[in-house]
Amino acid sequence: MKFGGSSVGTTTGIRNVKQIVNSQKGQVIVVVSALGGVTDQLIKTAQMASEGNKAYEDELAQLTNRHYDLIDDNISTGNKRDELMTKVEQLLGELRDIFQGIYLIKDLSRKTNDTILSYGERLSSLIVAEVTGAAWKDSREFIKTERKQGKHILNAELTNKLVKEQFCDLPQLTLIPGFIATDKNTGEVTNLGRGGSDYTAAIVAAALDAESLEIWTDVDGFMTADPRVIHSAYTISSLTYVEATELCNFGAKVVYPPTIWPVYHKNIPILIKNTFNPDAQGTVIRQGTSNGTGKAIKGISSIDDTCLITVQGLGMVGVIGVNRRIFSTLAEHGISVFMVSQASSENSTSIGVKTADAVTACEVLDKEFSKEIELGEMFPMKAEYGLATVAIVGENMKHTPGIAGKLFGALGRSGISVIACAQGASETNISFVVNKKLLRKSLNVIHDSFFLSEYQVLNLFICGIGTVGHSLITQIESQREKLMRENGLQLNVVGIANSKKGLFTREGIDLKDYKNELLEKGKDCDLNMLLSEVTSMNIFNAVFVDCTANSGVASIYEQLLQHNISVVAANKIAASSPYDNYMKLKQTAHQRGVKFLFETNVGAGLPIINTINDLIHSGDKILKIEAVLSGTLNYIFNALSAETTMSKAIAEAKQKGFSEPDPRIDLSGKDVIRKLVILAREAGYRLDQEDVEKQLFIPDQLMEGSLEDFWKHIPELDEGFEARRQKLAEQGKRWRFVARLSEGKASVGLEEVASNHPFYGLESSNNIILLTTERYHEYPMMIQGYGAGASVTAAGVFADIMSIANV
Ligand code: ADP
Ligand code: ASP
Ligand code: MG
Repeated sequence: MKFGGSSVGTTTGIRNVKQIVNSQKGQVIVVVSALGGVTDQLIKTAQMASEGNKAYEDELAQLTNRHYDLIDDNISTGNKRDELMTKVEQLLGELRDIFQGIYLIKDLSRKTNDTILSYGERLSSLIVAEVTGAAWKDSREFIKTERKQGKHILNAELTNKLVKEQFCDLPQLTLIPGFIATDKNTGEVTNLGRGGSDYTAAIVAAALDAESLEIWTDVDGFMTADPRVIHSAYTISSLTYVEATELCNFGAKVVYPPTIWPVYHKNIPILIKNTFNPDAQGTVIRQGTSNGTGKAIKGISSIDDTCLITVQGLGMVGVIGVNRRIFSTLAEHGISVFMVSQASSENSTSIGVKTADAVTACEVLDKEFSKEIELGEMFPMKAEYGLATVAIVGENMKHTPGIAGKLFGALGRSGISVIACAQGASETNISFVVNKKLLRKSLNVIHDSFFLSEYQVLNLFICGIGTVGHSLITQIESQREKLMRENGLQLNVVGIANSKKGLFTREGIDLKDYKNELLEKGKDCDLNMLLSEVTSMNIFNAVFVDCTANSGVASIYEQLLQHNISVVAANKIAASSPYDNYMKLKQTAHQRGVKFLFETNVGAGLPIINTINDLIHSGDKILKIEAVLSGTLNYIFNALSAETTMSKAIAEAKQKGFSEPDPRIDLSGKDVIRKLVILAREAGYRLDQEDVEKQLFIPDQLMEGSLEDFWKHIPELDEGFEARRQKLAEQGKRWRFVARLSEGKASVGLEEVASNHPFYGLESSNNIILLTTERYHEYPMMIQGYGAGASVTAAGVFADIMSIANV
């Protein structure tokens, strides 16, 4: 049973360890790491001392106190404790002397450093042995290493022999320090590498043919991905040795990679358990047959420290032995290669190495191929830094076609480009290299598409929290749980911004209190900041929702779409902007595999644009559109009566919040023109705002002056309108402000409609649209209903968001 630093680092942890260990029935060997963080702290303190930084003493004091505190908390006074204190004081005293020596001579050799590191496990093991009542043994006596290519490597033969001797009669409970070892020849203190306590436990388990190896840590088991990066990662109940090896080798820190081999060899199962939640089932790693049932992918892991070296040249094509030279040169210099990808044309080979090895790797390869480079048969080595490697792992992959397709498809849709990739013929692992900045996003995308197919996540940025934005947030808040439960859709609002501030968080914003949160935690945010915050979050399945009427916000859609972020706009400016711009946005969205939706631009929540699209996609053709598209104008013309004059009706529309603050935007027909242009474009016609003919009912001079002048002079029109209204009423007709598109020509203007016309009875601020198409010819299709209002508009925006999720 191996307990990691996270298990023995705190009083709670140590109490749990005691309980777990003491409840075991059979014979147990316990392996412990240094208290969590101590190895790092030893490295840091040694470094400080060697640089002549006297503050190393503070570090050491802190480290010393931590050990004493733990003894105080866990061991009651008495002889045993005195004995332990003597040993611990002795060790800490030695450590102090070593640090002082380093501080004085300002030199830190590798040998001294290894000696220092050993104190972490020596101290922790003494304490835990006392707490658990176990017999203590010193690993340095039986874990033996030898030096190869500048590294300490386990000498398995000698170690096995010594372990067997040491443990020939086994007490019920023995405790040993993990990680530390000694050199087989010189007897110097060495270790098995960072995270090496797992390995110590595996070596002992294998040598003694243990029943099982248990690794106790601070998570419930081996998880589908690193839980610190992927919040939705979950515990895998079983893994084969091969799968576990692939995942560990690629950075799943939970098990130190060399650990698997010795126990695999002896077919000893490994159990990963949580010290802080011993009842959790954990993960078992054992011999397995891949039979094609179960999940194709078991886990994802990654290393963010990748440099890709490309060996390239036409002179390599068909030449035998180039690869041998590449790999033997690297091996001679102790450089480990963790990924290789070669095109079948053989003209380039890409090699993944650690960043620290990259410069040397290029140098030695340039030297090896200097002749070829000189002759122009090959190029000098090219190193690309700042990359990360991701691996997806599962033995069932070989029985499941389409995994690579799904993987690269998901990455592509999220705008992640793959720089190199490799899949071995064993088909248990597909690895690929991406820009390090995209690592988190890549992991999320893959995790989401392979493990969370039960539910889908949409990450929303909501811009504008006026009436529509606020209403949308309220609707999302109240629907969220139901959508998750019934549709498997998780809506995450990860950003909210108004014209001054923005709040962004990957974990999602608490919608109940978003206004205060924005006020308190939001940062000042102009348009550039907004764009950079949204794009740099690099979050997958992202949707930007524009609930403003701002042209600046509309101007960033293109860049958002370029970053594979879908855009849902209640804002009409972009869709009615110059035709080329509108088309470019649509094309970018199409190329990037994301959506640009604006259903609420016309008729608020009424399904007009979607209907037009559905008709066209199914082969229909829109011949004519006739519509009343301005809620404000319809309200005004419905309100006119002997008592309500034109000026009064306009004032009322403003007061009730139907019109824009400057009602002339509605009266000028600009709003209707924008809507008509959008409908015409969606119907397949090329149209710009200037192409729309207009017949207005307010004289130009009133439209051009100041707003004050407008209100002053508008009553002058009342008399004339009233006279015309009376005449119209006598004829049984009404005014409607109608938008028309017929044979590609567009116009807006005031029309008189008779009582048998569908527009005649249109009430209040409602909208109506008649679509005459090849199929709906004799009797046009009619869509009618509320054409304005915050809650119906927000509902329309919500519907657009839902259509992106495709649920
Ligand atoms: P210990 O101190 O017990 O040796 P480590 O810190 O070495 O613990 O390893 C456990 C940690 O590994 C977990 O806390 C988790 O953050 C990290 N980790 C990374 N990848 C995975 C994974 N795939 N499954 C579980 N844990 C992982
Ligand atoms: N204490 C060592 C380290 O931190 C070994 C281990 O924790 O496994 O690397
Ligand atoms: Mg560990």
